[in-house]
Amino acid sequence: IIRIRGLNKWFGKFQALRDVSLDVRRGERIVICGPSGSGKSTLIRCLNRLETHESGTVVVDGVELDDSLKHIGAVRSEIGMVFQHFNLFPHLTVLENCTLAPIWVRKQPRAEAEATARKLLERVRIADQAGKYPGQLSGGQQQRVAIARSLCMAPRIMLFDEPTSALDPEMVKEVLDTMVALARDGMTMLCVTHEMGFARAVADRVIFMDRGEIVEEAPPGEFFARPKSERTQRFLEQIL
Ligand code: ATP
Ligand code: MG
Repeated sequence: IIRIRGLNKWFGKFQALRDVSLDVRRGERIVICGPSGSGKSTLIRCLNRLETHESGTVVVDGVELDDSLKHIGAVRSEIGMVFQHFNLFPHLTVLENCTLAPIWVRKQPRAEAEATARKLLERVRIADQAGKYPGQLSGGQQQRVAIARSLCMAPRIMLFDEPTSALDPEMVKEVLDTMVALARDGMTMLCVTHEMGFARAVADRVIFMDRGEIVEEAPPGEFFARPKSERTQRFLEQIL
């Protein structure tokens, strides 16, 4: 469903991605890890054109990401993204956060958008908070709302960029549980995370990036038991 070939990305003179190639099949769950500054966020941001790339190709569900606004729109409508900081609209209730885009972008009737939103809030186990404002929720609850909000647009692919790293430890689990459930339902997922328990539980492949390159990729069992490169070994020693 995703095909990346020879992707290069520069910020001025700094090369953030070096010749990255990656294929993701429908329903696959990929965990991306690596040291700070290794290009993880840049890579997943290139998948919905939050960053533009200088060379190489990115094709999502048959549509190539180039300058065409039509292509960019088509790809973005298939992809949901959840960030480290939840990026909810503070002046809207939980329910309104979830229905805004379906109503205004997808032109869904309000009643239909609300019914879908309530169902998805149920799925992330937060339906009872629908009338509250983000500021009245815990970090873990806000992140689950952010996940539900993305799901309201019926994406085929979900991108997560360190969704739990801004959370207090006791809230990490509730968000990871939500992500595990999503993975079990067959969602195609790319997750930047250092939660290696999550990687072991659901990832089909773990990708290790360093200095803008994919250094290693393997199923989690193999990745943790027998990392091939010395850079991966050193990284795992630091975080495990
Ligand atoms: P972290 O784990 O800290 O989130 P990361 O692997 O996600 O790191 P990126 O955010 O992808 O790393 O950044 C890769 C490199 O590109 C970093 O060296 C960063 O400083 C640089 N970079 C990222 N965004 C920009 C930008 N908008 N302008 C200039 N340099 C940038
Ligand atoms: Mg990052």
